[in-house]
Amino acid sequence: MALIVQKFGGSSVADAEGLARVATRVVATKKAGNDVVVVVSAMGDTTDDLLDLAAAITQKAPEREMDILLTAGERISMSLLAMAIDARGVPARSYTGQQAGVLTDAAYGKAQIVKLAPERIQKSLADGQVAIVAGFQGVNDANDVTTLGRGGSDTTAVALAAALGADVCEIYTDVDGLFTADPRVVPNARRIREITSEETLELAAHGAKILHLRAVEFARRYNVPLHVRSSFSDKDGTWVRNPTEENPMEDPIITGVTHDASQAKITVLGVPDRPGVAARVFQVCADQGSNVDTIVQNVSADSNRADISFTLPMAEAERTLQALRDAEDDLGFTGLKDTAEIGILSVVGAGMRTHSGVSATLFGALSEAGVNIEMISTSEIRISVVVASEDLPTALKVVHSAFDLDASETEAVVYGGTGR
Ligand code: ASP
Ligand code: MG
Repeated sequence: MALIVQKFGGSSVADAEGLARVATRVVATKKAGNDVVVVVSAMGDTTDDLLDLAAAITQKAPEREMDILLTAGERISMSLLAMAIDARGVPARSYTGQQAGVLTDAAYGKAQIVKLAPERIQKSLADGQVAIVAGFQGVNDANDVTTLGRGGSDTTAVALAAALGADVCEIYTDVDGLFTADPRVVPNARRIREITSEETLELAAHGAKILHLRAVEFARRYNVPLHVRSSFSDKDGTWVRNPTEENPMEDPIITGVTHDASQAKITVLGVPDRPGVAARVFQVCADQGSNVDTIVQNVSADSNRADISFTLPMAEAERTLQALRDAEDDLGFTGLKDTAEIGILSVVGAGMRTHSGVSATLFGALSEAGVNIEMISTSEIRISVVVASEDLPTALKVVHSAFDLDASETEAVVYGGTGR
């Protein structure tokens, strides 16, 4: 007998039919002799609809009220699923994040889990029930309800799996797992059978939208094996786990190619080329809470000056530009440029550590396709390049082929539509 945590995303529980399909799967897992804890997201687009409703009322919703509002979505799906499972003859109980003992810090809208006290869940399991937990929510010190950030139900599931010592955390979505590239852009992307949590972290941090970043961090830290798969089929999905001695994993040179079209680029032109200037530029960004990623500095035409370019999330660009403008006298630059028309392509693979030639293959493929590289950044197992956004789809396809990732036949099926 195993303890299995099953998490179902919004597209899997979008309507009564979806809830019935999920209930059937949960009941089968339970009847096979397992203990089952289920974590659910809100039905379909419920969270977006709640956000729209709030926006129609005020642009300045108090954060506390916003979080109470958003947690309502998961309460709907959890109770309906409990009914559906109960109707199939298996006892089930649903619990809010608070009832399930998900304790968080006070950062409304992006709270982090600080502790889990899942006694009621354990009691439910001991009583032979399926326990259903509302994803994406917890409670802070002041006993106020908090949310974990968009897509946070994954994190609830993995954190619970870690706290309960589950054998596996199954993440059900509307595609058959993780792919070597986004199948909507690269139709012959291949399903990844097995991947390390470290590689998954790099993919998730650079645009792959399949898993919540903090969920992967939890899985890595607490060694929780994840199985990402479709709730619409019985196919095996992608296993995310850490290699062990009994079960070493092969290190493909490149495991996947991902892209991020949500970043913008800012260039600060002609800053005086002397110590301390870059520090002041990025202090201005830091004061805005901007998440600066890739940075490149060039000596400008006037050799006493330099140009500094960096990327950051598009949503933060306007604010950061304004702050830089306000600091013009102090920073002494000659101009500012910004563009949202960029895309970032990243290749990720643990095998990069031990293989040379990855950058040569990457840059070779891009140059053959006539794609200009604007910036480059790397980690131990990732190389990212910034290109013009219009070049992004071509770049993805040629790079995917260059690393022999193309499948011979189309493997990717998107059953729902949102990829969650
Ligand atoms: N319902 C929340 C969202 O849409 C949380 C989740 O789906 O994981 O972001
Ligand atoms: Mg959702």
